[in-house]
Amino acid sequence: MSKTPFNSYDRAWINANLATMDCASPIPYGALCDHAIVVHEGKIAAIEPMSSVSLDPKMPHVIDARGAWITPGWIDCHTHLIYGGNRCREIESRLKGQSYVEVARQGGGILATVRATQALNESQLVAAALPRLHALAAEGITTVEIKSGYGLTLVDELKMLRAARRLAQEAAVRVSTTLLAAHAVPPEYAGRPDEYIDLVCREIIPASVGLADAVDAFCEKIAFTREQCARVFAAARAHGLPVRIHAEQLSNLGGAQLAAEFAALSADHLEYLDQAGIDAMAASGTVAVLLPGAFYSLGETQKPPVARLRAAGVPMAVAGDLNPGTSPFVAPRLMLNMACTLFGLTPEESLAGVTRHAARALGLGDLLGTLSVGKEADFLVWEIEHPAELVCEFGVPRLRQRVFQGRDVRV
Ligand SMILES: [Zn+2]
Repeated sequence: MSKTPFNSYDRAWINANLATMDCASPIPYGALCDHAIVVHEGKIAAIEPMSSVSLDPKMPHVIDARGAWITPGWIDCHTHLIYGGNRCREIESRLKGQSYVEVARQGGGILATVRATQALNESQLVAAALPRLHALAAEGITTVEIKSGYGLTLVDELKMLRAARRLAQEAAVRVSTTLLAAHAVPPEYAGRPDEYIDLVCREIIPASVGLADAVDAFCEKIAFTREQCARVFAAARAHGLPVRIHAEQLSNLGGAQLAAEFAALSADHLEYLDQAGIDAMAASGTVAVLLPGAFYSLGETQKPPVARLRAAGVPMAVAGDLNPGTSPFVAPRLMLNMACTLFGLTPEESLAGVTRHAARALGLGDLLGTLSVGKEADFLVWEIEHPAELVCEFGVPRLRQRVFQGRDVRV
């Protein structure tokens, strides 16, 4: 082995079992037992078997993992983390028997959150979101994607994106931002969705360059048509922004296929995805982001076609879809468990869904998602005997240490 990295390390963890999640390995979870992992300048500098390492726990900056498991830092690649208010009273009404349509007629639904979000300034949005972000971090999240989409005006969409950027400075978490101005038709454009899409394409997307890392659209009967989403994607492409889509959640409008035509990073939800959509995603390398929290919360029965996605080799990520209406959960491990019990993923696929494939869904696959030399030193030290425990158990605290950019951060 090369001795060089061990002569100039910032920190080293020894006597660790690594779930590298590296797909090049034929071993489940890319496991490397009894290894050392070395960090230098925030990056993973070396991974070596203990038998070839001369580090001892008495040396400065050497941490004895004592047989604990280390996984890559977890990535929640689909959240609506920033919002005003909450919709628990509305959910209560639904649980007491009111339909979603009746709730919406009484002023509930996405537009209730839009009103509450528009009413807050940027600092108030940051303050509202921060407890949720801290809770995600405490569960092992080191990178989170945050969407706009509750502003629906130029000023309010940009305000949400700025709040998302500020959150990255308030917590030891990497934030990836997504413009979701095409989330719902704002009330002032009721009956004129094409005019609102004009605003999104001509003003909001150009103004979001530098603030948004990607552009998303909600392709659904209750939101925007395939043609309207195509216009949003064309505008995003013209401004050099990659695209993602909310598609095939409640019906099949061919949104995933459209997104694949634009080489989308991901297509998300996908309960009603058909074979043509699967084939298009496989051909374009688009990640399928599964969101079991919304499926569970809405009491849906149509499941995403996991077996056919697997057969086609489409990478599957798992995310929380944290939002006040249909997935008000800060519970990454519960999402991983639901992806297995509700959708049929294996625990290893589920863990890949919050690491390697989630990184790819954000266009960050070269930097994050596996324990590999040269990648960011974001990783988690767990008190477990096998990685399956992270997915099969829920609620048992197992996270010993959270490492972000090579620094250990309080759990
Ligand atoms: Zn969503």
